[in-house]
Amino acid sequence: MNNRLYGNLIFELSQEGRRGYSLPKNRFGSYELPASMRRAEDAQLPECDEMTVVRHYTNLSANNFGVDNGFYPLGSCTMKYNPKINEEMAALPQFSGLHPLQPAETTRGAEAICTLLCKSLCELTGLHAFTLKPFAGAHGELTGLMVIKKYHESRGDESRRLVIVPDSAHGTNPASAAVCGLEIIEVKSLSDGTVDVEALKALLAEHGPEVAAMMMTNPNTLGLFERQIPVIQKMVHDVGALMYYDGANLNPMLGAARPGDMGFDVMHINLHKTFSTPHGGGGPGAGPVGVRQGLESFFPNVSPYHGNFAVAMRAYAYILSLGRENVKLVGPLATLNANYIKECLKDVYELPIEGLCKHEFVFDGLKDKSTGVTTMDVAKRLLDYGYHAPTIYFPLLFHESLMIEPTENESKETIDGFIRVMRQIAEEAKTDPELVKSAPHNTPIGRVDDVLAAKHPITTYRQLKADLS
Ligand SMILES: *Cc1c(COP(=O)(O)O)cnc(C)c1O
Repeated sequence: MNNRLYGNLIFELSQEGRRGYSLPKNRFGSYELPASMRRAEDAQLPECDEMTVVRHYTNLSANNFGVDNGFYPLGSCTMKYNPKINEEMAALPQFSGLHPLQPAETTRGAEAICTLLCKSLCELTGLHAFTLKPFAGAHGELTGLMVIKKYHESRGDESRRLVIVPDSAHGTNPASAAVCGLEIIEVKSLSDGTVDVEALKALLAEHGPEVAAMMMTNPNTLGLFERQIPVIQKMVHDVGALMYYDGANLNPMLGAARPGDMGFDVMHINLHKTFSTPHGGGGPGAGPVGVRQGLESFFPNVSPYHGNFAVAMRAYAYILSLGRENVKLVGPLATLNANYIKECLKDVYELPIEGLCKHEFVFDGLKDKSTGVTTMDVAKRLLDYGYHAPTIYFPLLFHESLMIEPTENESKETIDGFIRVMRQIAEEAKTDPELVKSAPHNTPIGRVDDVLAAKHPITTYRQLKADLS
């Protein structure tokens, strides 16, 4: 691909007066817009011929990296394969052409999809009812906490303003609690990465009647199954609080265990993670919320109309194409793949917590710390070899977190290729650390200054020109 020939910005290809398209002759006469609605000066638009525009955007699109290009082990995000049949179903004009204000009798098919999806989610999670309205996992957390708040209020119990969140939790957990007007208390993790039950006991003894809920992610953000849930849920329920399940990591549980059976009262599911919707670049998503029987009347109305219907459609197509038998393989295969990578790499990467993981796990950088090569460097070097980097510097429990999630879809050959490259990078870190520290070398853009990019973002061509001059 020749980036230079076609330029990096469409503005750099502009030729004054060049046109790619001309409008047909106007047969209807012309009308002057009122002066108050007109621009004082012409809009600054690039002027290009059609071929230049097509080449520019086609070449840009080829710079993109997605699950369809290569291995994408981005921990916590579940970047699994998105079967094309899901896209075809969501794009059917009977669904994609719907308008939310259409008369209800003309949208029965879409309604049936929503009902059937909710039913499937109930069966997969062991909960009683779902709402499809929330637009993302974080939105689902807020929705679920609103249910919990209303439940307590409905019993005249106004004093419950605390939410217990483990220190390993995703940042959205405390953020959602805060947005919901609740206060957060953090419960510590043990050195094995799971919730410290003794610390929780002390918190409940001190704050019991003020606790609205405990939020848990299971397996947690370290990819570890929280084995003490039976004990924890009993302790929490005994003080009158409810259990919230952050279902972002539902993938390894599919077909193996259900949050409802574990004693959770409310949960969200990230349909875009576990149920396969493309979600690079922050969207689209859906975060349906499920509740135990008796709580469904507390669902708030958190979005206009019916939520992200196209995401629901994809999820339902995915569930149906797996079927009852194959859905049971998702969790075990995702777990097998993660453990295989972990065991094959733990002699060269630092594994802070030994033992079986679920669908993902965390290394704390390279084992040999003397080379000065960081997790950032390893992630950048992986790009040179055509792999998307794992999640880095999350969770915050370790300094050099490198969080790997292969998902169930990958073949042994693909995974072996990734393992080979990870070992190769560990070797390079010893023999030629500068090579790794200055990576990437083969990508269209080198190592960007991410602090500068965040502090001083340049989002328009005009700003770029002003900056350069
Ligand atoms: C992804 C994730 C979330 C947030 O979900 P979004 O859909 O990105 O809003 C919450 N908790 C955990 C553990 C996650 O991995």
